[in-house]
Parts: sequence; structure tokens; C-alpha cells
Amino acid sequence: MTVNKEAELRREIEALKKENKELKAQKLNDNKKSVCALSLEEYRRYGRQMQVPEFGGLSSQLKLKNSKILVIGAGGLGSPALLYLAAAGVGKIGIVDNDVVDRTNLHRQIIHDTSTLNLNKAESARIKMRLLNSNIEVVTYPVALTNLNSFQIVEPYDLVLDCTDTPASRYLINDTCVLLGKTIISGSGLRTEGQLTILNFHNQGPCYRCFYPTPPPPNTVTSCSNGGVIGPCIGVLGTMMAVEALKCVVGFYTQENFHPFLTLYSGFAPGQKLRTFRMRSRMSKCKVCNPDVREITREKIEQGVIDYKGWCGAMNYNVLNPQTQRITAKQLSKVDFSDVEHLNPLLDVRPRIQYDISHIDGSINIPYDDLSRSKSVLEGLDPHKKTYVICRFGNDSQLSTKILLERNFEDVKDVIGGLDSWKKDVNADFPSYW
Ligand SMILES: [Zn+2]
Repeated sequence: MTVNKEAELRREIEALKKENKELKAQKLNDNKKSVCALSLEEYRRYGRQMQVPEFGGLSSQLKLKNSKILVIGAGGLGSPALLYLAAAGVGKIGIVDNDVVDRTNLHRQIIHDTSTLNLNKAESARIKMRLLNSNIEVVTYPVALTNLNSFQIVEPYDLVLDCTDTPASRYLINDTCVLLGKTIISGSGLRTEGQLTILNFHNQGPCYRCFYPTPPPPNTVTSCSNGGVIGPCIGVLGTMMAVEALKCVVGFYTQENFHPFLTLYSGFAPGQKLRTFRMRSRMSKCKVCNPDVREITREKIEQGVIDYKGWCGAMNYNVLNPQTQRITAKQLSKVDFSDVEHLNPLLDVRPRIQYDISHIDGSINIPYDDLSRSKSVLEGLDPHKKTYVICRFGNDSQLSTKILLERNFEDVKDVIGGLDSWKKDVNADFPSYW
């Protein structure tokens, strides 16, 4: 081969390489364009929010379209948050929930309805969101978030909404997001109140562990099924979470203007219902967000060395001898309470408000909380007579029975499974609210 011929070939190769590079760049650009551009339908659909100066116009709408948000928990908080994020045009929304839609959820979890009873909540939510806005992609994870799957599930998303309701899941979500550098919008609510905050903002702000280095004692944690909840009150919190998510995505918050905060909402407060407190920045001793003293790592989480449920604890209700100190609902139905000489009335230890909704005729109510705090509440009962104790599911009744035995009641038994078993095994017409 002559020198000229070789040089010519080399030039040709170089030219082909250049052309190939340009074509690749053009293809990438075309791909980007197809993701970025709004359809005419979308211009109209999002027009009213694009006009709002604080929102930031077309460029913010495109940011939403290109954003990926993960919502963990499709319950009272997740329902309005998911609906608003879908309606606003967030391009990809992931939903994690392993629970199924129950009738007791419907007064507040408004993304579900009677037609999706018993369906997985993530799936039920997806159906409603697709009806609302078919431009968006909805990915469902019908599983519980665990040490093994949390990193895999969270990693592809830009932002996480923590709509869960147990300390163990809050710590797991926090640690996963801190270690992956994701911002968390965190909300919680119970009865008529709730709170809202943004954690690990841009991997700089304080995290959940900075606020709560240790979990609350398990007996102080009340769930919605125990404490009750007003639908629109928790809905306000979920809606505020959606607002904060939009502000994060469109760039309303920046490293410079963001200050850690905690907003408290009290729906039934006589005066001011919303208060916001400025919070301190990261805690230097934080075991996860400060890399210098970090003890919590991805490896430790995935290997199960960090045991969230064990660390957050659970109440131990197994304090009685099942043979001698417990009876079934069927056995209770055979007890003759007219024998007042030997028997105290059936003792129902649920909170007063639940007792007033429905109770077994002839039973009396002394709530477990009163029973555990005060001795005088038992004055109407005779410790020498037999006593049977009942609650909703047979947990508080065990603790109450133990207290009575410690206070020298001679013969006390609790009802296994409580009123829930009473309804299933004895009286199907008993009005249940759980
Ligand atoms: Zn921290």
C-alpha cells in the first residue's frame, strides 16, 4: 500500500468516526426532545399551573415531566399526594405499598374506592392515577419496603415521599435516602393533627436521625387503627407534601434559600391551625448523615445487621398464662353474668369513645390508660369475685388482666382476640368499627 493510499484510508476512517459521533449526538438530542416536549394536550392540561409566577412556567413543567418521584405508602397521606402529583404531570411516579384496600380505609384514603376493596393499594392507586392523567408513567411495588429491597427500589428516583406510619419504616427510608443522596418529604398524622418536614435536602439538610436519634418507646406509638383519624386532617398533610414535592422539583428551594423546618397542623385547634418552626441543621454526631462518624452503611442494612423492627421495639403482650388466665370468646358467651354474687360485670378496657360506639350489654368501661395510671378506678369492683376483661383485639386486655392480678384480684381472665373474636365466633351482628 502506498503512503498516499494509507493516508487517504485513515482520513476516511476519521471522517466516518466523526459522522458516527454526530449521528449519535443527534439521536440523543432527539430522544431528549421527545421526553422534554409537551404535547398540545399537555399545554392545555397544565396551563393553569404554568401561569403561576412562583411555579416557573414551561421550564418547570418540563422539569416535572422529567422527574421521578417515589411515594412510599398509599394510605391517608399518600392518597392526596399521589393524586396531585399525577394531576400536576410528574413524569414517573413509583408507589410502594403491600397492603390491600380495606373498608375502614375509605373515609380518608380517597384514591381508593369501594370498587377496589381487597385490591393491593399500589395497584388501586395506579388505576385512579391513570384515569386522571394518562401522560404519566406509574410504577407499582406491591411489597413491603425491607432492608433487602429498599436501595433497589429508591435508587432510580429523584425524590421520596415518606407516607408511612411506623418508626421502623421511617428510619429505613431515612437511612436509604441519606446513603443514596435523596431528599425526603416526610409527613405524619393522627386523629386531628399532623406534621410535615423536608429531610436530607440536597444531601445537606438534617435527616430523621438528626431529629430523632433514638426511636420513641413502643407504648407511646399510636396507630390510626388505635387512635383514629379524621380524613381531611390527614388529607391536608398529604396535600402539603405534594406542594413541597413540586417546590423541590421545580427548583423553588435552593441550597441557599432552604432552611430546615417543621410544620405542625392541628385541625381542631380553636385558633391558629398551622405553625412552622425553624429547625437546626445536621447533627454532628448523626450516625448516618455525617460520613466522619457514620455507623450505618448500605452493607450493614442489606446484610440485616441493622434491625429496624427490633430496634424500634414492639409491645410484649404475652404476659399471661394462656391455659389459666385466658378464655375464648365462645367460652365467654357461656358465662352467666347474672350470677352477681360471684362475678364482677364484664370489664371492657377500650377507650371510652370506642366503648360508646358499640359494646356488649351489661359490660362496664374502665379504659386501659386509666387502669394503668390509677388504683381508684377499680373501686367499684370486688377483687374476691371472678373478673373477665375484654378489649378490641385482646392486647390491652392482657395487660389489664396482669394489672388486676398485681392489685390482688383473685381470679381474672382476658378474652383471646377480644371483641373481634366475639363478632367472628359468637355474634356476627355486633357492630364493628375496625
Ligand atoms: Zn442525620
